[in-house]
Amino acid sequence: SNSRTPLMVGNWKLNLDHHQAIQLVQKLAWTLGDAKHDYDAVEVVVSPSFTSLRSVQTLVDGDKLGLRYAAQDISAQEKGAYTGEVSAAQLSALGVSYAIIGHSERRQYHAESDALVNAKILAALGADITPIVCVGEALEVRQASEHVAFTLAQVDGALAGLSAEQVAALVIAYEPVWAIGTGEVATPEDAQEIAEAIRARVGELVGADVAAGLRILYGGSVKGDNVAQIMAKPDVDGTLVGGASLVLEQFAAIAGFD
Ligand code: PEP
Repeated sequence: SNSRTPLMVGNWKLNLDHHQAIQLVQKLAWTLGDAKHDYDAVEVVVSPSFTSLRSVQTLVDGDKLGLRYAAQDISAQEKGAYTGEVSAAQLSALGVSYAIIGHSERRQYHAESDALVNAKILAALGADITPIVCVGEALEVRQASEHVAFTLAQVDGALAGLSAEQVAALVIAYEPVWAIGTGEVATPEDAQEIAEAIRARVGELVGADVAAGLRILYGGSVKGDNVAQIMAKPDVDGTLVGGASLVLEQFAAIAGFD
């Protein structure tokens, strides 16, 4: 069987307070339960704000429901005088399974560099949290036809110094910035082109076996009605979903894409 279990991640960004987060998680779990969703066949992850992670984990037991949780960011620091940061150990203690790292909004508004992304990946791995490492080019880069080189340079920077074992324990999400929150979705061919190139680069970096098992997600205006075409591409193993993950029917359709 394919070791690359499809992975659908809902990134709620800066939306919903903890009451609303509990409601949406409960409704999602009920909807997927009614649909007899097989969580082993398609993994489903939601990423609420830090303030909601404790609430959803305590009141809606993800383990029992089959849902898993992701943090939207993670500190590169272990502990100490880092005001406002949330550590890998703190997230791990809450039962958080994944951390989104290097999302384009963090790169853009918080000046996150590839070096910081790399450090955050190491922090997450050290606490057994699976990094979802985001890469992807802005519109000008695509218009200049430099999207492949740009994205692979981000992959190189993010994975610098990582062992094969460490790379095997993470997920990469290709999210072209021009497709995020814009309603502009990359074509399945665009998504495949970059996913294939990322897999090849990871093969060069740490070996073909790790590359073959690596899960690569596509993100950028994924909806219930375009997810199947994207998932049909051989190197796309899942999706990272912003806007549509806040709409119950949309995200349930994405989770049950086939
Ligand atoms: C995202 O921010 O990860 C994302 C893909 O957003 P949207 O689905 O809204 O384009």
